[in-house]
Amino acid sequence: MIDLRNKKRIVIKLGTSTLAHKTGKLNIRRMTNLTRVLADLQNAGHELILVSSGAVGLGVGKLNLKSKPKDTPSKQAAAAVGQCELMHIYDEMFSKYSITVAQILLTKTIISSPERIDNVRNAIDALAEMGVIPIVNENDTVAIDELELEIGENDSLSAIVASIAGAEALIILSDIDGLYSQDPHENPDVEKISVVKEIDEHIESIAGGAGSKLGSGGMATKINAAKIATTAGVDMLIMNGRNPEDLYKLFDGEEIGTYFPAVNA
Ligand code: GLU
Repeated sequence: MIDLRNKKRIVIKLGTSTLAHKTGKLNIRRMTNLTRVLADLQNAGHELILVSSGAVGLGVGKLNLKSKPKDTPSKQAAAAVGQCELMHIYDEMFSKYSITVAQILLTKTIISSPERIDNVRNAIDALAEMGVIPIVNENDTVAIDELELEIGENDSLSAIVASIAGAEALIILSDIDGLYSQDPHENPDVEKISVVKEIDEHIESIAGGAGSKLGSGGMATKINAAKIATTAGVDMLIMNGRNPEDLYKLFDGEEIGTYFPAVNA
């Protein structure tokens, strides 16, 4: 079981399906609860770093588009509008608890260069020192392209950020309770896997590829994130973000979600 009580720096990844409705409009109830719980955890002494999706999704909502655009310039435009909206929402919601947030936008080019990685780490350290919660996303407005120069999904990005920031844990909030050997929507009797000590072929094969309409991830990208995080010495956990209060249970030591212990942990 993951023990978060003594872990200070923790990355929390929020997917579009956690923060927005299928319409692309903000899930107000969920986000109100979530920011309250996160602010409380920060106040309790943890150094939170959020990796938040939602730029494209909220852009779709704000521009009243019927669905996620398919062509690159329109996707970039939706991300430009949505990222602004996303940060406005976080800023407003966290300021209720006197917590300051900061925006960090990354690209594949940045995370591929050791010097630039040092820069990112220094910025995160300085922000943590000031009690600020950094909110990270890919810079979708300039990074979306067809040349594979984009990271493309935030599960892997969150694991990269956890590794760069020297975080002790990564919590991925999803729309599913954890990893299952079969799709629980199709087979309600299937049991959740509570711990994955080794990511072997069996684990890879059950991860499949389903994602939501507005986001880009699925279980396969979460398993990829688990590989990056655990080999970087970061404990990772996938849990449902539907009930933000469950984070309290998790931090109190209750067994929740699927835990991927860091290699050599
Ligand atoms: N960076 C994308 C966004 O903010 C999300 C990528 C993902 O869904 O993982 O819309």
